[in-house]
Amino acid sequence: MNRIDLKSMTLNEIKAAFAGQPAFRALQVYHWLHRGVSDFDEMTDLPQSFRARLADEYYIAAARIERKYCSKLDDTVKYLFRFNDGEMVEGVLMSYHYGRTICISTQVGCKMNCAFCATGKSGFSRNLTASEILSQVQTAQLDSGERISHIVLMGMGEPLDNYEAVLRFLDLVSSKEGMNLGMRHISLSTCGIVDKMYDLAEKKYQLTLSVSLHAPNDLIRSRIMPVNHRWNMEELLRACRYYAERTGRRISFEYAMIEGVNDSVECAAELARRLRKILCHVNLIPVNTVGGSSFRKSSRERLHQFESTLLNHGITVTVRRTLGADIQASCGQLKRRFKEEVANVGNIQ
Ligand code: SF4
Repeated sequence: MNRIDLKSMTLNEIKAAFAGQPAFRALQVYHWLHRGVSDFDEMTDLPQSFRARLADEYYIAAARIERKYCSKLDDTVKYLFRFNDGEMVEGVLMSYHYGRTICISTQVGCKMNCAFCATGKSGFSRNLTASEILSQVQTAQLDSGERISHIVLMGMGEPLDNYEAVLRFLDLVSSKEGMNLGMRHISLSTCGIVDKMYDLAEKKYQLTLSVSLHAPNDLIRSRIMPVNHRWNMEELLRACRYYAERTGRRISFEYAMIEGVNDSVECAAELARRLRKILCHVNLIPVNTVGGSSFRKSSRERLHQFESTLLNHGITVTVRRTLGADIQASCGQLKRRFKEEVANVGNIQ
């Protein structure tokens, strides 16, 4: 019999599945699941016979730590998580003045193939379940011993390409009987899956929508982000405007600064013109050099010129701090390194 993924179920779904049991049973189980237990035998206040029944019919998803790297420069910790079927994703735990933030993955690999991204270069394996997305947060929280106060869906994968599981995850992580994390403490990043952005706008969640823009026009964007062939910048920015109006939330545009590709003052001026009527701010990211790509990060001077041009045009802009620079903290790099290490060991033996 195929066992059911219990941790992906909402409290109401568990209540319905446990009909005939005492009324408090579903909540007991839900509490255990959201405390991060990975075995039914850890649910010590349940009768033994009921635990055995649960183990027959259900399974508990887990994200086990395969590798862990701690930065010597700051408090950043990078995890390589392994799921029950052996697939692996990355997560990064960071410290900010407002608390601990975890950046987690939503897919094993990614279909979007952005030219500057290590994950995009590794292909796509499968979607994560809601429980696997949640398990990354739980594992990091248990491992660090500190409460995680903010979540960023910006690791491996395109969240809106795994839409149903991501919505379910949001429901679970914000439930008051679970981690009870406010939507305002969650950021969701997309490369611009426009149809799902319209759908998400109707939910009126108070999360922050980060849109990976990385270019001021279609010519440049299509070169580095294949998704732009499906939805061009005009369609994307129209969806962003709609999202901001519908939710009242400011869009955060991510812009990776790539030397000689998108980092000129002309690019900044064009970008500012296009964003003029959108409730937004721009986050400039000194891009990480990815093995196998010719992209290099822009110089400090270019970065500052770009920043001041946007500011002079009235666009709010920040430059992202680089955290965990010594542990390959950006998406896809660690898994790549791990695979290379394993391959090298294989070669030696
Ligand atoms: S940047 Fe994001 S959307 Fe693009 S390939 Fe990488 S993981 Fe996928």
